[in-house]
Amino acid sequence: MQKLIDFRSDTVTKPTAAMRTAMANAEVGDDVMQEDPTVNRLEKLAAQMLGKEAALFVPSGTFGNQLAILTHTKRGDEIVIPENAHAIQYEVGAAAVIAGVQTRTVRPQNAWMTLEEILPAIRFGYDIHQPETGMIYLQNPAGNGDVMPLAEMQRIYEFAKNQGIRVHTDGARIFNAATALNVKAAEISRYSDSVMFCLSKGLCAPVGSMLCGTSEFIYRARKNRKLMGGGMRQVGILAAAGIIALEEMSLRLQDDHDKTRRLAEIFAQYSIFDINLNTLKTNILYLKFKPEYIHLANKFHSEISTVGILTYPPRSGEIRFVTHNDISWQDISAFEEKLHGIMQKIS
Ligand SMILES: *Cc1c(COP(=O)(O)O)cnc(C)c1O
Repeated sequence: MQKLIDFRSDTVTKPTAAMRTAMANAEVGDDVMQEDPTVNRLEKLAAQMLGKEAALFVPSGTFGNQLAILTHTKRGDEIVIPENAHAIQYEVGAAAVIAGVQTRTVRPQNAWMTLEEILPAIRFGYDIHQPETGMIYLQNPAGNGDVMPLAEMQRIYEFAKNQGIRVHTDGARIFNAATALNVKAAEISRYSDSVMFCLSKGLCAPVGSMLCGTSEFIYRARKNRKLMGGGMRQVGILAAAGIIALEEMSLRLQDDHDKTRRLAEIFAQYSIFDINLNTLKTNILYLKFKPEYIHLANKFHSEISTVGILTYPPRSGEIRFVTHNDISWQDISAFEEKLHGIMQKIS
C-alpha cells in the first residue's frame, strides 16, 4: 500500500511516543474539583508561557473561543470580528446560540483587521437603539496562515482598553505565529485580555485547547465551562500530552514552516500556479491557480489523491496544504517527484 501524505490539516498529527508514555503514567484526580495534579500543572505552565495569570483546559478550540465570548459578553452585545475568522466560518454560528451575541463582521483588506477597519464598527456612546460593543475579536495567525503584526495588535488593544472593550484572540496556532515573528507567545498574548490556543494541532496532543486570561476571568470561565458541559474528570490523561506539546513540540514549528516554504518553491516551478511568498509565514499554504488555469484545480486534486496525496477539495480555485510533524522531508521529496508526473499528465 502506498504511504499517504496528509496535507489536509495539522489536526491529523498523532500523539508522539513521549506523549503516549506520559499519558499512560499520568497522575490523575477529579479535575472538576481541581484535584487533577497533571491538569493543574498544564494550566500553570500554559498561563506562564502566555504571560497570563491563569489558564483553563478545554475540550477544543471552538469550545475555548465560545467560552471566551460567553464569559466576556452579555446577551445582545455585539462583537467586532473579521469575517474570515474561524469563529465566523467554522464554528456553526455558536456565538449566536451560546453567548447570544450579534456578530459585526469586518472585511479586512489583509487577512487581519487594522484599527482603522475596526473603528466604523464600534458603537460609541449611548443610544437606546444600538447594541453595545462587547468585544473585539482577533485571530493570529489569520486563516490563510499569515501573521498579524504585533504593532497592529497593540494599537487595537490600547484603543479597546481606553473604551472599556474586551479583546479576545483566537491563537489556535499562536506558537506558529510566535515562531514566525521570532518572539515568545507571551509577546503576542499581551495585547489581548484572553487568548485561546490549541494543543491538538501542530503541537500533536490528541485532544485539548487552553483558554488564558486574568484569574478573575478564568474563575468565571471555569463556571461557564461547567455550564457548557466541559467539566471533565480524570483528564490528566490528556493534560500529560498537553505538557509535552508545550515543553517540546512548541519548539519545533520552524521545521514545519520550512517544509511549507519548500512546497511553495516546488509549486513555483510550474506556471499554472500563482505563488505569493509575502503571506507565507507559517505552516499553511493556499495553492492558487492562475485565473486561466482555474479549470484544472479539480483535476489536479483528483490526480494527487490517486497517488496518495491528501488535501481537501479546491475552494474558489485554491487548495490548502498544511505541513506538520507527521510529514517528513522525505515525504516532501516524494511529493516533488509525484507532482512532476502529474503536471506532465494534466498540462
Ligand atoms: C482549529 C481552529 C479552531 C478550533 O479548534 P477545534 O479544536 O477544531 O475546535 C479555532 N480557531 C482556529 C484559527 C483554528 O484553526
